[in-house]
Amino acid sequence: MKKIKYLIIGAGPSGLTLAHSLLNRGISLSQILVLEKENVAGGLCRSEIVDGGPIDIGGGHFLDVKHKDVLEFLFRFLPQNEWIRYDRVSKINLHDQMIDHPLESNLWQFSIDTQVDYLESIAQAGCVQGADKPEAFADWCRWKFGSRVADDYMLPYNRKIWSMDPNLLGTYWLYKLPNVSFRETLQSCLQGKPYGSLPAHGVFLYPKKYGYGEVWRRMGEALGSSLKTKTTIESVDIEKRIINKTWEADYIFNSAPWESWLKWTLQIPSDIEDEIRKLYKVSIDVDYKSENLETKAHWIYEPDESIPHHRKLIRSNFVSNSRGYWTETNSARSNNTSEWRHRNEFAYPVNTINKRDSISKILDWAKSKKIIGFGRWGTWEHMNSDIAVKSALELSMNF
Ligand SMILES: Cc1cc2nc3c(=O)[nH]c(=O)nc-3n(C[C@H](O)[C@H](O)[C@H](O)COP(=O)(O)OP(=O)(O)OC[C@H]3O[C@@H](n4cnc5c(N)ncnc54)[C@H](O)[C@@H]3O)c2cc1C
Repeated sequence: MKKIKYLIIGAGPSGLTLAHSLLNRGISLSQILVLEKENVAGGLCRSEIVDGGPIDIGGGHFLDVKHKDVLEFLFRFLPQNEWIRYDRVSKINLHDQMIDHPLESNLWQFSIDTQVDYLESIAQAGCVQGADKPEAFADWCRWKFGSRVADDYMLPYNRKIWSMDPNLLGTYWLYKLPNVSFRETLQSCLQGKPYGSLPAHGVFLYPKKYGYGEVWRRMGEALGSSLKTKTTIESVDIEKRIINKTWEADYIFNSAPWESWLKWTLQIPSDIEDEIRKLYKVSIDVDYKSENLETKAHWIYEPDESIPHHRKLIRSNFVSNSRGYWTETNSARSNNTSEWRHRNEFAYPVNTINKRDSISKILDWAKSKKIIGFGRWGTWEHMNSDIAVKSALELSMNF
């Protein structure tokens, strides 16, 4: 039996950051072990070379610039001069027209008749009229954006990405979206210019010569023999924190989906097992197309429910010396393809109505066993990689 102080499950951005952050705090490499089932580090942020250029196999990945500490940390592995800064160009393909995202700030780009239809509907929206906020997702969308934006864009797009009844989703995760203002929308239409604040990734970084996976690959490499890739977990003794009858840990940090734990051990109490089974996830297929598209967009949202994918990533517009694009499709909506495809079984944790209760019970129980859930799957949070890094940096401060 090998004794390890900190055993980390998963070498995605969260696991890699936690390992490096513990190292920075003076803990020796011999006390840290990261176990990863894939053959390379990076998790959903990995890239592969396809048709002569990189593809981000977990979907389109862009680094947000708002957290300085996160950038400083990542620049240690992929220096600042190896990234390009882009001003985001993202479009929505609606009514056979490419409208800038977000839709509610850019209705002025439609014909006058269409603008009037949208404005009329926004004037009647619940949040404009002062009505109480509804709990069900579909009602919430109509309350927030008016029926027209909800029915043309928000609801079809959400039905595509989640492939489930939108009313099974909670609304607690949408608090960041600003209220739609009739006055500002009207002003924007009259002046012919957008209003409101920039969406996430308004400015983003992407590696100059590589895919998004390069920074994480380098972080994994820097861990040397403390990162074990191609390692499948077969058993966990929860009481003694022994993994695969080989490693005994003081603490286990888990960034893998909790449902995997049901295969590794019989020691999970039945009430916690019930909560784990209530966690929903979405799988996403990433499909490569070699055709070059005539657009300046970095990505395009596709709410039309007659086509399977919900987003196109125009890699020739942000990956140097590349051609073509890739699509993201909920695996439940995917057709067969003869071209390159990568299926991400765990892509989006779903914010169902009861998720917060379930995950908090799971995390409390795990913590009582010195097993700490963190990262996208360990906390079942729809977090971007900059937030995964930030949270892991903060977590390391407690150990
Ligand atoms: C379609 C899509 C688009 C996205 N776009 C962006 C974006 O533009 N910008 C951005 O910053 N973020 C984006 N993200 C989010 C980003 O992918 C995540 O924030 C990030 O990957 C979370 O890191 P993590 O380490 O917590 O989880 P993951 O990346 O999922 O890593 C978990 C790791 O655990 C490993 N693992 C799982 N099970 C086991 C096991 N049984 N044994 C050992 N290891 C295991 C996995 O192989 C993986 O390496 C996007 C995600 C998706 C799905």
